[in-house]
Amino acid sequence: MECIFCRIVNQEMDATKIYENDKAISFLDIAPLSNGHSLVIPKYHANNLFDLPQDYWMAMYTALTATTKAIEKVLGFTDFNFMNNHGKNAGQVVFHYHMHIIPREQNDGLNTIHDRHKITLSKETITKMQKTALLFKHT
Ligand code: 5GP
Ligand code: ZN
Repeated sequence: MECIFCRIVNQEMDATKIYENDKAISFLDIAPLSNGHSLVIPKYHANNLFDLPQDYWMAMYTALTATTKAIEKVLGFTDFNFMNNHGKNAGQVVFHYHMHIIPREQNDGLNTIHDRHKITLSKETITKMQKTALLFKHT
């Protein structure tokens, strides 16, 4: 199946573009969660962040900040969620790496992570993570 975001990059499909550089592009989400909800994508097909070459990540950063500043200026938002759904269980639907820019305002009806039920970490998880941290520190 052909990737819809590659089609947008290749100009085979329309999108309301906001920003573009040689390696990244941003455009309005077709089903926005809030006014100005946008997506930033690399001009490179990578399923997720781990498959993305670093120079495209840098271009994404430029596109992300420029797009957010544009939304700030034009629509007056000052608060945002920057979000990446990584994998099916995290809600990823389009498997071409992308970041969401979701403008936020008071009482907009969207949640923040702080509205959610919190879990208590097991001792086993904490120990595993501590060991992992040590592993990375020494390699
Ligand atoms: P995710 O994979 O991060 O869960 O969601 C993909 C996002 O892409 C959704 O918010 C969806 O509305 C948006 N999207 C899917 N298809 C299109 C499209 O053809 N054009 C645009 N502009 N956005 C799309
Ligand atoms: Zn793609």
